Amino acid sequence: MPSLETELDRARELSVDDLADAIESIGFECTRCGACCTSHGEDEHTATVFPDEVRELQAASAAGDGADATGSDTAEPDTTAEARDWRDVARPMPYGLTEGEDGPEGETFEWALQTGGCGDCAFYAEDDDGVGACTAHDDRPLICQTYPFSVALDGTSQPMGEAVDEAGVVRAHECEGLGRDISREDAEALAAALKERAVRELEEAIDVRDAYAPADTGAGEVVVHDSEGAKRPDGTRLSN
Ligand code: SF4
Repeated sequence: MPSLETELDRARELSVDDLADAIESIGFECTRCGACCTSHGEDEHTATVFPDEVRELQAASAAGDGADATGSDTAEPDTTAEARDWRDVARPMPYGLTEGEDGPEGETFEWALQTGGCGDCAFYAEDDDGVGACTAHDDRPLICQTYPFSVALDGTSQPMGEAVDEAGVVRAHECEGLGRDISREDAEALAAALKERAVRELEEAIDVRDAYAPADTGAGEVVVHDSEGAKRPDGTRLSN
């Protein structure tokens, strides 16, 4: 298996033009079905979010992002709202945790977008007509900006759904928006975000690997190792 450093070099050398060609050849238009923002059966919505993206979403919540639940930019920013807590935005990625008597425990290596009571992303909301949208659309993380695509490099994450199509290094995952026409401009914007995500994921993975020191987790304790160090589920540093 190639090293993370080798894959990072490959990610940095990806041509946005080539990625855009691949995305154009597959085709995509979001149908606003909400499938990538909601739970599936027993499975809670699970999407990786980087630590700086968590802070952006916290701050965005404080300022309001100007988007209403329909995704249109008509709502006035709520300047009176307080910043969300870390836990309102992110939760420890459940993979690798075990179920103890007091709930999940152990060490994990990523943050996932927080979910609401029904397992949907905490930022997903439906209007009175049942049309869903992201309430943090302008500040949504890279994984959301690039759904349903990923790049086929070791160490990068795959979005929800099986991989169903592949064009060069670009993979497309199950999504009803696939196969629809996409403009060159939109394909290039998506390609640029896809490259940025691949680079960021590999940089994160390398930093986590290099900074990792086993944490002494007791019963009911969870530690998240991200690129900034070991943290508690509320986002505070373990060494504080
Ligand atoms: S942040 Fe927005 S786009 Fe991303 S999963 Fe949540 S609701 Fe969907």
